[in-house]
Amino acid sequence: MFIRFRYISALSVRATVLLTPLFAALFALPAQALVILQYHHVDATTPAVTSVSPDTFREHMTLLEEMDMTVVNLEDAMQQLLTGESLPERAVAITFDDAYLSVYENAWPELKKRNWSFTMFTSTDPVDKKYKDMMNWDQIREIQSGGAVIANHTRTHPYLLETPAGEDRKDWWQHEINGAEERIREETGQSTRMFAYPYGEYSLEMAAWLEDQGYIAFGQQSGAAGASSHPQIVPRFPASGVYANIETLKTKLESLAFNIQPSEVRDPVLNDNPPELTITLTVNDFRPDQLQCYGAGVGELEIEKDIQGDDDQKIEVTMQQDTAIKAGRGRYNCTAPSLSQPGRYYWYSQLWVNTDVSNR
Ligand SMILES: [Zn+2]
Repeated sequence: MFIRFRYISALSVRATVLLTPLFAALFALPAQALVILQYHHVDATTPAVTSVSPDTFREHMTLLEEMDMTVVNLEDAMQQLLTGESLPERAVAITFDDAYLSVYENAWPELKKRNWSFTMFTSTDPVDKKYKDMMNWDQIREIQSGGAVIANHTRTHPYLLETPAGEDRKDWWQHEINGAEERIREETGQSTRMFAYPYGEYSLEMAAWLEDQGYIAFGQQSGAAGASSHPQIVPRFPASGVYANIETLKTKLESLAFNIQPSEVRDPVLNDNPPELTITLTVNDFRPDQLQCYGAGVGELEIEKDIQGDDDQKIEVTMQQDTAIKAGRGRYNCTAPSLSQPGRYYWYSQLWVNTDVSNR
């Protein structure tokens, strides 16, 4: 395992040596970070990996209050973030995928009583087919009138990287994604063109198609969203299963967005395994020597540095884990502590998808 640094900038090298609070003050940008939480079931009896219990969900909501987080409307906040308008300090958005009945029964009362906005990414076919653990359209309209945004999560919740045999890929996306948008509009009058990828699985081609179609799209790779986030591959923090832990959730709620351009996001479908990842980060409020990167399930990736002089403030970081990713999905996560806001971390994640694994 290794990470290779290449400093593209003499300034950053000098700054790394000086590392004064003055430096931090000069280069710290306003904290334009939006933390987006992602839930599925809010139920003690559903599969643990995609669930939080009603008690745990209540604890999470209490934590948001204790931490003085501002719960924002996701649609408005994304607009503000991507156009460079100011977001509230400690902005957090709450999202649910799939429209489970348990959200209506166990999460909605907690959200309603606090008057908090949230977004529900809805797969429309299971609702249309009246599956018993799904909300129905009346319930969906009820939460909508209470401030929920009803957004798009396809019609049938497929693995979007696996186009059915004989189908044209883009025709299929059109059917799954624009079809769901139309069903939501018919039932709720709402069409926000916000989309969440089922299983968090995207491709760069799909992201480009979604951009063409006017969507903002959300994954399940972790990290705070920032002004330079890829608008069709916006990160969210899963908060179910092992990620429901209150201590690690605190760190995530305080996370900040690295300044990293959309073009740095790599296609997640594994060609070489283990994959090598090179990303360029702007160094504006962290020490490059405090950057740490991790492979999901393998821990910290070893660091190598290659320092070069120039006159910018960017570093190029290359990492690769030793062993192949065997799970259906893997991630490389990078974090670095903020200089200007002690205790807070910059956070970035790249998804990998192993399409050889069929039930991911
Ligand atoms: Zn889903």
